[in-house]
Amino acid sequence: MKRYTDDERPRGCCYDCGLEYGEDGWIEAIVPDHVWDIINPTYHKDAGLLCVTCIARRCAEAGIAQVPVWFCGTERLVAHEGDPVDELQILRSWTPSDV
Ligand SMILES: [Zn+2]
Repeated sequence: MKRYTDDERPRGCCYDCGLEYGEDGWIEAIVPDHVWDIINPTYHKDAGLLCVTCIARRCAEAGIAQVPVWFCGTERLVAHEGDPVDELQILRSWTPSDV
């Protein structure tokens, strides 16, 4: 699996595909540390940045399945307090977050 040296490491975007962090299409996704240790795109513990698609791609490449993912979402996708309850429940059913 590709790991980037300090000289190669991109700044502020997904290392694998270049999607900029915080761009409209960015979905914040967090995986458990023991999974990140395997798919980590750097040589440093807990370092690096990958978009959710590239996280999934690396997990598939590593043969890891059923990874618990915490989706923090983006402003556009995340419901807020005061939003209609039924929509919140639908969102929760889509986003397993028991890391
Ligand atoms: Zn990516």
